[in-house]
Amino acid sequence: NKITIAIDGFSSTGKSTVAKQLAKHLGYVYVDTGAMYRSVAYYAMQNGLITKEAFNVEALVGQLSKINITFKFNEALGFAEVYLNDVNIEKDIRTLEVSKFVSTVASVSAVRKKLVEQQQKMGANKGVVMDGRDIGTVVFPDAELKLFMVASAETRAKRRYQELTEKGDKVTYEAVLKNVEERDFLDTTRADSPLVKAEDAIEFDNSILTKEEQFQKLLALVET
Ligand code: C5P
Repeated sequence: NKITIAIDGFSSTGKSTVAKQLAKHLGYVYVDTGAMYRSVAYYAMQNGLITKEAFNVEALVGQLSKINITFKFNEALGFAEVYLNDVNIEKDIRTLEVSKFVSTVASVSAVRKKLVEQQQKMGANKGVVMDGRDIGTVVFPDAELKLFMVASAETRAKRRYQELTEKGDKVTYEAVLKNVEERDFLDTTRADSPLVKAEDAIEFDNSILTKEEQFQKLLALVET
C-alpha cells in the first residue's frame, strides 16, 4: 500500500532535501517538478523567447509540443537528472539566470497544464514523493500525506547562496535573497494555481529543526 507524498512550499525551504530523503528511505520515486518548470524556462532562454526586455508567450506556447522533459536516474548521484529533448541539462537549470525567469514562465497556464498532466502520469501508480508549489492543491489533491515547508527568508537565501557558490556560480548574497523574494511574490500572486498551503497540509519549519529531527518527525507521519 504505497502512498503519494506531496511536498510544497516557498523557494529554498529544503523541500528537495526532505523529498529525496523520504524517497530513498521508502524506496519511492522522487519527482522534482521545479526542474520541469526550470527546463521550460531554459528552453525559452535558449531560443530567445524570453529576455530581460521581452517574453514571447505565444511563441513559447506554440512550441510546447517540441519540449520533451524526461528524468533518468543517476546511480552515482542517487537521484534522477533532468533531460530536455534527450540532453542532460541538470546543471544548466540550477543557475541564478534560470531562477530569474522561471517564475514568469511558470505563470503561463498552457505551460502549467502540460507539466501538471505529465506529473499526474508520473505519479499515477503512487509510491511517489513529489515536490513543488501546487502538488497538494492541484497535481495530487488526494495525496495521502501533504507537507508544506516554510523557513525564514534569511535561512533560505543562505541555503541557496551556498548551493550556487559551491557550484561556482558567481553571485552575491543580496542578488540571491532578492531572487528568492521575487519568486515567492510571483508564485503567490499568479492567477493560475498560486502557491498556497493546502488545507490538509502539515506545516514544517525548517529553520527550527535539525535535519535529523526533521526526518524523524516525517517518518512518524508517514507511518501513521
Ligand atoms: O522548486 P524550484 O525552486 O526549483 O522551482 C522553480 C520555480 O518553478 C518556482 O519558483 C516556481 O515559480 C515554479 N514552480 C511552479 N510549480 C511547481 C514547481 C515549481 O510554479 N510545482
